[in-house]
Amino acid sequence: MSELISGKIISAQINEELCLEVKQLKTKGIEPCLAVVLVGEDPASEVYVRNKKRTIEEIGMRSIGHNLPDTTTQRELETLIQSLNADPAVHGILCQFPLPEGLDEAKVIQTIAPEKDVDGLHPLNAGLIAMGIPKFISCTPYGVLQMLKRSGISTSGKNSVVLGRSNLVGRPIATLLSSKGWDATVTVCHSRTSDMAEVTSQADILIAAIGIPEFVKANMVKPGAVVIDVGINRIDDPNKAKGTRLVGDVAFEEVAAKASFITPVPGGVGPMTIAMLMVNTVNAARWQNGLTEMDL
Ligand code: NAD
Repeated sequence: MSELISGKIISAQINEELCLEVKQLKTKGIEPCLAVVLVGEDPASEVYVRNKKRTIEEIGMRSIGHNLPDTTTQRELETLIQSLNADPAVHGILCQFPLPEGLDEAKVIQTIAPEKDVDGLHPLNAGLIAMGIPKFISCTPYGVLQMLKRSGISTSGKNSVVLGRSNLVGRPIATLLSSKGWDATVTVCHSRTSDMAEVTSQADILIAAIGIPEFVKANMVKPGAVVIDVGINRIDDPNKAKGTRLVGDVAFEEVAAKASFITPVPGGVGPMTIAMLMVNTVNAARWQNGLTEMDL
């Protein structure tokens, strides 16, 4: 049976470190502040934003919420972001996606000042990752790296296979793992990959980020592999009060019996993503005040 890598426990450790860090920054007159922009009334986005704001408060940072109606125009949204870019009290800007239909997410990302882009999605920050000199690392890939590091899992020289090539998750994870310092040998699989099981069963480290419930079965996994499940999928379950439950991209029970380490869903990568958003906000405040980043 494999060892569980708990995102709940690791994110709680990081949040504790952040509490101390924020206390210290406050003695220097610096109060890290994240502006959170939510457009429309998507229920899942409202839950994500609420969770992020709660964690900000727990850590002792400040958040400024901007809730806009779904009738907001592209120009109105960009004007708000430009005003946040210009506000020295705001260190980080997060615009919760997905945006209502008709609004252009790529343009919004490019409107956020790169030095306040705590989601790490601006082309400048994505480019710095590609060049091997990352500044802001997008929160989910950053969370995956911290889970590996804090579980004592070395990636150097390891065969790593990443399932998925999205700009949000798969692509940055693959780039980071192959960069200096992490030094893995990386293969990326996507919807057109042929003979996927043949590729994945070579992986010492297998990272699934495709958004298909329980896609990775035991026959796709090398015995003793480290398996990181980024997927969050809601499936029907008549045995649950709500009638649904969350599962990852990995068939947990059967894969756990074969892997050396595995992350659960929920309680795995999810809480790490929020913790790394907090780290990015603290680092934004540090950089904007001439300090170096936190040592994680
Ligand atoms: P996406 O839909 O943007 O990308 C999915 C990727 O999977 C694509 O690159 C596609 O080529 C690939 N893919 C699709 N079908 C495939 C197949 N049959 N075989 C191999 N590859 C295939 O999704 P995303 O934003 O990258 O998210 C992926 C999953 O991670 C989703 O379940 C999402 O909910 C979850 N997610 C979790 C967190 C977190 O905090 N844990 C954060 C972001 C996304």
